[in-house]
Amino acid sequence: MSHQTAYRTHHVDEVNESLAGQKVTIAGWVDRRRDHGGVAFLDVRDASGLVQVVVYDEELARPLRSEFVVQVTGDVRLRPEGNENDHLATGKVEIVADTIEVLAKSAALPFQVSTALANETEQQLPGEETRLKYRYLDLRRPQMQANLKLRSDMARAARHALEEMDFTEVETPTFIKSTPEGARDFLVPARLVPGSWYALPQSPQLLKQLLMVSGVERYYQLARCYRDEDFRADRQPEFTQLDMEMSFVDQEDVMAMAEKVIAAIWKVAGYDVQLPIQRISWKDAMDKYGSDKPDLRFGNQLVDLTEYFKDTPFRVFQAPYVGAVVYKGAADLPRRQFDAWQEWARQRGAKGLAYVQFTADGVLKGPVAKNLSDAEREGLKEAVHAEDGDAVFFAAGAKESSQLLLGAARVEIARREGLLDPKKFAFTWVVDFPLFKPTDDPDDDDVAVGHSKWTSMHHPFTMPSKDWIDTFDQDPEHAMSDSYDIVCNGEEMGGGSVRIHRDDIQDRVLKVLGISKEEADEKFGFLLEAFKYGAPPHAGIALGWDRTVSLLAGTDTIRDVIAFPKAGGGRDPLTGAPAPISDEQRAETGVDYDPDEEDED
Ligand code: ASP
Repeated sequence: MSHQTAYRTHHVDEVNESLAGQKVTIAGWVDRRRDHGGVAFLDVRDASGLVQVVVYDEELARPLRSEFVVQVTGDVRLRPEGNENDHLATGKVEIVADTIEVLAKSAALPFQVSTALANETEQQLPGEETRLKYRYLDLRRPQMQANLKLRSDMARAARHALEEMDFTEVETPTFIKSTPEGARDFLVPARLVPGSWYALPQSPQLLKQLLMVSGVERYYQLARCYRDEDFRADRQPEFTQLDMEMSFVDQEDVMAMAEKVIAAIWKVAGYDVQLPIQRISWKDAMDKYGSDKPDLRFGNQLVDLTEYFKDTPFRVFQAPYVGAVVYKGAADLPRRQFDAWQEWARQRGAKGLAYVQFTADGVLKGPVAKNLSDAEREGLKEAVHAEDGDAVFFAAGAKESSQLLLGAARVEIARREGLLDPKKFAFTWVVDFPLFKPTDDPDDDDVAVGHSKWTSMHHPFTMPSKDWIDTFDQDPEHAMSDSYDIVCNGEEMGGGSVRIHRDDIQDRVLKVLGISKEEADEKFGFLLEAFKYGAPPHAGIALGWDRTVSLLAGTDTIRDVIAFPKAGGGRDPLTGAPAPISDEQRAETGVDYDPDEEDED
């Protein structure tokens, strides 16, 4: 493709040996300028890369500063022998400037944008607040450009794969009535209907189900979702989903479809995802990895010792669950490191992290050891599958929280051992989820849908699994659902479910959640109404798109793959949102509308 425009004949990355001897015009930013007594070198950067420009005329070079926008015309020549730069695609050539036109100047920069030195010294980035305030400068950095490009390429690959499978892209509105996904709604006052509010969708869930009732059969959308949650690391109040839904399908159909999409996306970066993707049940994931999103890049499964310690004299281990995770080769870590692990556990809300060490010469040490019976000490190494030289962490107490603690320790151990290779991808489906979860879990900050002891594990439109269709409301604690999560490297990349398409089942689920008929009618009566007119069986899935891109791009945070993300507390340091509004605006929005006052008039 030719990059010739009114301002340039070539993109800089096209300037190579084959153009030697030719005149070119390029346009871009001064990445940096170096003066070498009588001759100046400029690195000029455009979206495609960098090229070196040689300026013999000092008058031409003197006014140029970093990030000035310039148009340079000159002859391409091979760099003198020994001056090539192997790190640069254009490193064999340079442009000898005839004319340099300054198209725009730059003020003194708040931070250094140039990454020309990236291969020489690691460039120092300012704090994220500054990066976000000057996001347009931050985005000029090649790494950020590459992230945006990858995101775009991934979207294209996903769209292509879905179109091949006969999916139709449909846009759904963002001003709707609530779609509950376990968070608070963002609300928008309706000026034209004072006292009434729109909710922004937490996902297009209800709308995509309506599209199934509409006969679309295969829908997808890169959809913006909004969830008003308390700030948590690596969450955004608005985020993107690759949202998909299909009619006349079961769980297997959706999973097979999603695998094709994932394989197509990973192919963009040259990876072949082995299909079918492995599966693990939610229960096994918790038992073996202490997580509902297990990182399978490495092994080191948890060991259940509840049975082993059933007659233990050690009070702490007289608990509904005792489990352990091995820390290979850690027996001789200094005491203060084990103390630091206690602190680590406390920060996660645990009391501590009990441990023992099996020294290299076969001695059992550590604070827990002396509390155990002789028989327990004797058989422990074998029971936890440890070897001399290993340390072992224990958790005892309520099953789920203990497993989660051990699961987190397992990942932290792997991190310290350098096993979390971001270029390796371990996918797994997690299947066989419970249909409900208790509402009284203090560690769960989801907003319960409904008002009972139970809320939906996924969302209220999830189908109970076949075995539970008749009985889920009699035993909500054990009822299972037809839902599935796709997990990669310990991150939940997405999830979905078979949906309830029968109003009788939907009514019963809402009842378990403590949602009355009136409330259901008020909240999603439109969906229940639609189900009366012939709803096809349907199922779907959504991928958290920011997370998916971040995984493939290998970034530490999803903010690095979002052009204009929010900072902590949902603030936007760039535009200053959210911001106060004027009294006039406030009056106009109708937010202060009081129906009682109206009645009195
Ligand atoms: N709407 C769901 C979510 O946002 C995804 C799905 O069930 O398709 O998690």
